[in-house]
Amino acid sequence: MGNGMNKDKHYLCVMASDSPDQNLTQYFSLCNDFIHAARLREGNVLIHCLAGMSRSVTVCVAYIMSVTNLNWKEALKVVRAGRAVANPNIGFQKQLEDFDSTRLMEERRRLKERYPSLALVYRDQEQCAIMLNNYEKLLQSRTICEGRCVMGEHCPTGVCRPGSGQQQGQRRRTRSRSEMRRSPSTSSTASSVSVGSRPRSGPAGLRGYTGAQYNPRQTDGAIKCYPA
Ligand SMILES: [Zn+2]
Repeated sequence: MGNGMNKDKHYLCVMASDSPDQNLTQYFSLCNDFIHAARLREGNVLIHCLAGMSRSVTVCVAYIMSVTNLNWKEALKVVRAGRAVANPNIGFQKQLEDFDSTRLMEERRRLKERYPSLALVYRDQEQCAIMLNNYEKLLQSRTICEGRCVMGEHCPTGVCRPGSGQQQGQRRRTRSRSEMRRSPSTSSTASSVSVGSRPRSGPAGLRGYTGAQYNPRQTDGAIKCYPA
């Protein structure tokens, strides 16, 4: 393809900036449907943004909460067990918390009605339990950090600012990280959700792309999903 998009993949692109006041909640159901439908077809879903720390993580956490009985903090631990630097910005954390306390039950019900299959339920429960267990081990071995490194300590995940002790300022370095976006795997069942922003765009919007029309320059920084 040469442009990173393949015709045998399905894509869902969500335009969203990594800013605390960006509303991502409005896309949770859309992303959940895309991800869940692809997985039920035994497809793989790549969820990415730019750094893989904030936007894509938020979408993952919302999905995990929606298909399991985990709350948002537990779901975030599941993600962090696999990717230690996962760290939604403070606004996205608040949105996940609000989603948890207001819309989550309804969203779980909606998904069950729309996708009655139980094919993934037990496997997901099992996998999440394993990941939560891994998380505790990583925390104990100081391979993972919950943002509370004290002054002078080396932060294992690099999220704590040196010398700041308790801190909140870890988000801003996201952009300087190398880009995490990768071309979807060659699997014919791969799907991808990508979350990103277009610097010049106005309100966040959604777009679906087919491989043929995708131009990475136009969508740099956007959420895309690729269901098969
Ligand atoms: Zn730390």
